[in-house]
Amino acid sequence: MNRGGIYVHVPFCRRKCPYCDFYSVTDLGRTPAFLDGLEREVRLTRAGRRVFDSIYLGGGTPSLLAPAEVARILAALFAHLRFEAPVEITLEANPGTLGPQALAGFRAAGVNRLNIGVQSFRDETLARLGRIHSAAEARRALAQARSAGFGNLGIDLMYGLPGQGLAEWRRELAAAVRFGPEHIACYMLTLEPGTPLSDAHRDGRFHPAAEGRVAQLFLATVEFLTGHGYRHYEVSNFARAEAYLSRHNGTYWSYRPYVGFGPAAHSFLPPRRFWNHRSLERYLADLAADKLPRAGQEKLTPAQQMTEFIMLGLRTTEGVGLAEFQRRFGVDFNERFGAAAAELESRRLLTLRNGRCAATPRGMLCLNSVTAALT
Ligand code: SF4
Repeated sequence: MNRGGIYVHVPFCRRKCPYCDFYSVTDLGRTPAFLDGLEREVRLTRAGRRVFDSIYLGGGTPSLLAPAEVARILAALFAHLRFEAPVEITLEANPGTLGPQALAGFRAAGVNRLNIGVQSFRDETLARLGRIHSAAEARRALAQARSAGFGNLGIDLMYGLPGQGLAEWRRELAAAVRFGPEHIACYMLTLEPGTPLSDAHRDGRFHPAAEGRVAQLFLATVEFLTGHGYRHYEVSNFARAEAYLSRHNGTYWSYRPYVGFGPAAHSFLPPRRFWNHRSLERYLADLAADKLPRAGQEKLTPAQQMTEFIMLGLRTTEGVGLAEFQRRFGVDFNERFGAAAAELESRRLLTLRNGRCAATPRGMLCLNSVTAALT
């Protein structure tokens, strides 16, 4: 299966969170111009005969859009690109922007997977993260999403906050599980260069959780969620059943093509990768001149592709399929990497079985060094 994914970057947030380095602006008055530009970008894009089966509206905060605006984006995509039904259509939502009407509207517009950025069920933690919503609003949004008919609901949580202990984190996980979401993603708080949080760390005003504690929290996450019936299928991602694995994110991990629209969006049509301007104004200026808003592109060498394929595959619990590796690159994985893989297996960081090479949970904690040792 070589179906691709479509990503749409909606570059608006009501307020910037201090830890986040995703591109977004807070001038929501630019929304109509963005939608016009996006439509033009979709029209100008030539994806050839490529077929897609997922659409992901991310950002930014796509749930700041009105349902009619989401419907307009989807209509443009369906008018100009080829899709194979059923298409997974995900909308990332911030609990501070949702209400029964908006949720019903998104559902009616065709969104069939809602991913809610809860981050925490504790007000103190939410305030620390600079989120615009409270824990009560997050709970309300989850209940309302169910009432609006969303049968594929995801919750995002964040861990690795200063002073966060195992008991507190397990309470967060338990709170999420109580809603019975089909999908749970748990992201480690990372210090992205140039963000206010990273500046605070540099100036000694913010002390992230120690590496050892973060490792404990990750392993506790795997134990807790698998113990509650969730399948761990990617470093940060858990699903209640096969049907609820994120198809769109699976596009990235299985090295399939994807096309991104919107400022700062990236695309990958193997072996070419290209990306848009990380500036709404430059993005719109190029489109006003009937030009695709590309900021750069690169063509990956076969060696780069092999490394990326392995690195992305090891993010998933299924790991890298050795037969697929041979088919794609004409290289025998065992011949090329067998000795290094056996050494990593002896250190319990990898497993090699049933024609697949996969990272163990401990290996997932140090994926960069595992990939470097392997390739
Ligand atoms: S975390 Fe989400 S809401 Fe906060 S600034 Fe980043 S994209 Fe916006």
